[in-house]
Amino acid sequence: METPPHSLPEMDNLDPDEEAFWLLYHQLNPLDSYKVILKRAGRSSSDSDSETDTTFYDTSQSKITFLDLPVVAKKRILAYAGLLRPCLIDVTYERVRVDNLRDKTAPATNCTRSLMRETRGSWTTLVDRACDHPRLPVELFHVSHAVRDEIAPIFFGINRFSVMLYSKLHFKRFCNGIMWGIERLKYLHIDLGPRDNRFLKLAPGIHRMVFNIWEEFCQLATERMLSLTYFSLKCRIRDLEVAHKLVSPMDIFPIVCQSAVHFNQLRDDDLRIVARRTCRWLVGDRTKEITFPYLYLPKEVQLLILEQLLIKRPDPYIAATDCSKGIVTLQDRGRQRTTLFPLTCCGTCSPLQAMCFCHARQTAYSTTCSCFSSPTPYFLVSRSFYEDARQIFFSKNNFAFMEEDPEHMMRLLLHIPTSSFMQIRHLTFKFPLAFRNTGRFTHRNEDYTLLSWAVLRRFIREHFDVSRLSLTIVDCGTKNHIPQSVPYRNRYLRKLLRSFADLRGLRDFRVYLADDRIFEKDAERAVMGPACIDRPKPSHMPFIGSKHLNA
Ligand SMILES: [Zn+2]
Ligand SMILES: [Zn+2]
Ligand SMILES: [Zn+2]
Repeated sequence: METPPHSLPEMDNLDPDEEAFWLLYHQLNPLDSYKVILKRAGRSSSDSDSETDTTFYDTSQSKITFLDLPVVAKKRILAYAGLLRPCLIDVTYERVRVDNLRDKTAPATNCTRSLMRETRGSWTTLVDRACDHPRLPVELFHVSHAVRDEIAPIFFGINRFSVMLYSKLHFKRFCNGIMWGIERLKYLHIDLGPRDNRFLKLAPGIHRMVFNIWEEFCQLATERMLSLTYFSLKCRIRDLEVAHKLVSPMDIFPIVCQSAVHFNQLRDDDLRIVARRTCRWLVGDRTKEITFPYLYLPKEVQLLILEQLLIKRPDPYIAATDCSKGIVTLQDRGRQRTTLFPLTCCGTCSPLQAMCFCHARQTAYSTTCSCFSSPTPYFLVSRSFYEDARQIFFSKNNFAFMEEDPEHMMRLLLHIPTSSFMQIRHLTFKFPLAFRNTGRFTHRNEDYTLLSWAVLRRFIREHFDVSRLSLTIVDCGTKNHIPQSVPYRNRYLRKLLRSFADLRGLRDFRVYLADDRIFEKDAERAVMGPACIDRPKPSHMPFIGSKHLNA
């Protein structure tokens, strides 16, 4: 809330809800009510706790109480007091949250931290951590039963909660903290451990304790968490038996809207089936007979659904920093990757932005993961489904090679039929930062590489619909890693790009050369002819976006 609470802002700029709120707020003699709220929130400079009235403001001056305010006003007041937090609330650590370092006069709605990047196992993702909001002013819950009943649906309906249940004490504190509004709890992420980075087993000690806590939690969820809508669970498991035992008490869990489960940072297909079945079960997929009458839908609607499924999916094999919307990379996805190049999370897999639940290379499942995955299952449904899906997949995505080796590209292309190539409209060659793979070319001479490129271009001429194909070449340069090699590399690239002249007839040809910007126009003219001289620059290019184009 940017406007100070004691001044009436310009009414012309407000929507009707806000206008009603400020009028009412002003009537409440806000200077007094503001002080009282701050005192209740424990943020006042004086430590007086002499107020014993049951409402948020001084009743001697007005008859309207907090309870009479419209919901939008209540939400604003709660947000200002610090009870509504846009960041994930870690219930386990909330009680030890330190806010000494903060500026006490800053509104409790502010948080100076944004989402932070975290790499775990094969994935890198943005998570909601290390927030510096002040501690929740839970003292406000003790004002009165009436106020608490009013606050509960807002507090538990808007805030997102994460909790670690590693011990009985954690579970007890969790219960104490939420029991008064448990029926209203909407967002919950649970980390079941076990602690010390162990895997859960069918064994006594902490393993049995975790199972006991979990059974109690499931009982509680079934009986009381009737508003639960977004739920995710993390538990370290590597045995199928253990997974079966863990998910069995979830049989009677309430149905939620979005769910995600994470068992292991390494991939285990059998365990993943359990995770998937659990998530589907949680979102209400509880009978085998559920079918959707897709084929009875009008054709236009069918195609819209296929577009949702097959295009503009974030490809986890592209680095997070690349501008890569709608790009499908052509690469060997089964190849071992170093942790230096983790997969990029789609950002939609965690209902609470607590961690990554994407499916590849780990044992996890999320009902909301939007990562690109192979379209083959759609191609196998039926002949007509295949034709529609294939047409959309190949014609509407931009396919990109991520390496510079034409022989490797040829090997990848061998698995795709010519009829599919004919539908491809956008193809991109991304040459990675040159210092990463200089070693790959040292044993070959330049002529040999250029010859391989000629073979690849001939393949494109013969198998693609060249008149409808737009080709883009993005060279990321050397970033001056080895300055003395730049002239040699530029000379090689110029030679290579001139040889693309045998692809004349392309619908479009664009080039970006990080180390040789002045040659871009010449390279494009070699393929497109004089037609491309006066055309405007593109506003956006794959992998580089728009940031370097005007440099
Ligand atoms: Zn925060
Ligand atoms: Zn993810
Ligand atoms: Zn994903």
